[in-house]
Amino acid sequence: MTLNRATFAEINLASFRHNLHSIKLLLGPDTRTMAIIKADAYGHGAIQCARAAIQEQVDYIGVGIIQEGIELRENGITSPILILGGIYPDEIEDLIKYNLSTSLSNTVMANAISRKAEHANKSIGVHIKIDTGMGRLGVQPNSFIKLMENVITCKNLQIHGVFTHLSSADEEDPGVTNHQISLFLNLLKKLSTTKFSKMTSIKKDILFHTANTAGLIRFPESRLNLVRPGISLFGSFPSPTITSIFNLLAKENKTTKLRPVMSWKTKIMQIQTLCKGVPISYGGRYITKKSGTRIATIPVGYADGLSRHLSNNMELLVKGRRVKQVGTICMDMCLIDITDLPGVEMGEEVVIFGNQKNSAITVEELATKANTIPYEILCGVGKRVPRIFIQ
Ligand SMILES: *Cc1c(COP(=O)(O)O)cnc(C)c1O
Repeated sequence: MTLNRATFAEINLASFRHNLHSIKLLLGPDTRTMAIIKADAYGHGAIQCARAAIQEQVDYIGVGIIQEGIELRENGITSPILILGGIYPDEIEDLIKYNLSTSLSNTVMANAISRKAEHANKSIGVHIKIDTGMGRLGVQPNSFIKLMENVITCKNLQIHGVFTHLSSADEEDPGVTNHQISLFLNLLKKLSTTKFSKMTSIKKDILFHTANTAGLIRFPESRLNLVRPGISLFGSFPSPTITSIFNLLAKENKTTKLRPVMSWKTKIMQIQTLCKGVPISYGGRYITKKSGTRIATIPVGYADGLSRHLSNNMELLVKGRRVKQVGTICMDMCLIDITDLPGVEMGEEVVIFGNQKNSAITVEELATKANTIPYEILCGVGKRVPRIFIQ
């Protein structure tokens, strides 16, 4: 069997490490880093990215679901791992078996985890999650102290952290984020005025965290003693607002520019020369405009994660020049117009995003055209696209 495929994603782990370093340059000496590598490291390969992050001395790894944590443990990753999305009761045994930490928002789960941990004679790390305005996971602010008091009485639970998630740190208006941060800080203040503050053994190295990429770049007061960067580690930004703030920080030498980590490439399969007026691909939604039109077929389609919404609305790189995608994007293939590029042959490299010669197509460009965000483009690169790692 041929393992390599003409369509592949090149993952530059040196760029990943560079980005992690750039993020750390923004942080004070007391702020630690949790590398967020959920969803197979945003499509980049969780195991390889976790290993690279650990080489760069991250303190914690964050994943979305327990299955992702188990995959890392089974591949020899021993760092602390937080399951950001929390777990279900039937996943408690694996949480204990694989020594994972979970986000925790209610007493029912606290008691259930503690009971099973006691049976196994283990202690489980938990991060209490507060819902400060996302309306998604977490305990409501007015029930937070009660939950803390309950968790403290669970002998086999250890409070590793208290955290919240910012809903709008990448939006133009900072109001919502400022509100979330101050709500969170007020709860921490309340914590220090309850009997909880006497339990210094717990409080000393407890991790307080709120900041995703947008938070940590734009709201220094959100950094506290741990930040949770995800998308920035892969060289992308949540929104143009954050991109420009970061670039300004780089200009002031407070950090260094991020580098894209993934390049998506393929090779031309076939080239046809067609007459004027020929309909192309399903539904004939593109019609050749002149005689001698050269159409190349490339083996990448929506099953690989190239959204059908991009049909007739994206550009790719061939020989360092931009060419247009034409016709409906199919499941396994799509077509590009190379009429204006002489000397292109079967097997020629095509870049979907990434660099070629002195040209580049960014994930941001593709995301804008697909009416989505870079996250979805990166996570969407399909399972059957092999990841080729370069150091
Ligand atoms: C995904 C996620 C992050 C990382 O967000 P980015 O915008 O990719 O930096 C941080 N915290 C939580 C809880 C998340 O789910």
